[in-house]
Amino acid sequence: IPLEETALRIQGVRRAFGGVTAVDVDEIRVPRGKLTALIGPNGAGKSTLFDIITGFEAADAGTWSFEGQPLSGRRAHSIARLGLVRTFQATRIVEGESVLQNMMLAAPAQSGESLLRAAWHPGWRRGERAEAERAMALLERFRLAEKASEDAAGLSGGQRRLLEVARALMAKPRALLLDEPLAGVNPALREKVMEHLVSLRDEGLTLLFVEHDMDAVMTLSDHVVCLATGRRISEGTPAEVAGDPAVVDAYLGA
Ligand code: ADP
Ligand code: MG
Repeated sequence: IPLEETALRIQGVRRAFGGVTAVDVDEIRVPRGKLTALIGPNGAGKSTLFDIITGFEAADAGTWSFEGQPLSGRRAHSIARLGLVRTFQATRIVEGESVLQNMMLAAPAQSGESLLRAAWHPGWRRGERAEAERAMALLERFRLAEKASEDAAGLSGGQRRLLEVARALMAKPRALLLDEPLAGVNPALREKVMEHLVSLRDEGLTLLFVEHDMDAVMTLSDHVVCLATGRRISEGTPAEVAGDPAVVDAYLGA
């Protein structure tokens, strides 16, 4: 990926837990306005890499930048404010709160603080009402508007993933890092979630998503990066990466 087409650039990022190296990436360039899949076996370091890049986990070494802005050392909320927003492998839906209330918790979701500590005020002021209108428009887009006043606990796996994407969009991101957005989504809704990701890409958003299902990766992504034992072992078009003996060895052949 040429530098001028790179939205997110990761260089020399390392992180170990105890004696175990979780991430040891030489360089990854995430192309702007494309759908990039991050694949690799369980424990490859995909989530830890997301945590580091978005300020939820410290790195032992390395630098990373988004649209030319260095991110290394910045806190989660500051990274989100620059337009790089993420979702989590384990969805951070607050049960006992309505779907709309979950949308309004958008900012705390990126702050690294517990969602449950974020205060909720039923008497919205003007700015908050505008935010609620934006939230409702996003819920419409993701076919969740009819659920707006219902407890988020009642959502299906797929609806939870969509709510997380919708909530991430509340922050007006330029790039989204999605950790397993298709996990726990039933087959009927998988295609819908995928269509949403494609349309976000078509609107110019940069997306990096973790996914295990190679059929989804092959049909969805413009670019694929494969991690294994923390290292980038392959990168290219979906066909190139799927056919790379190193990837077959470390991941697909297993
Ligand atoms: P992936 O998302 O690719 O499945 P992870 O990033 O979750 O991989 O994990 C990479 C490695 O780092 C694994 O060996 C995992 O056990 C380890 N790891 C991740 N987070 C922690 C942590 N907080 N403490 C100790 N080990 C961790
Ligand atoms: Mg993971």
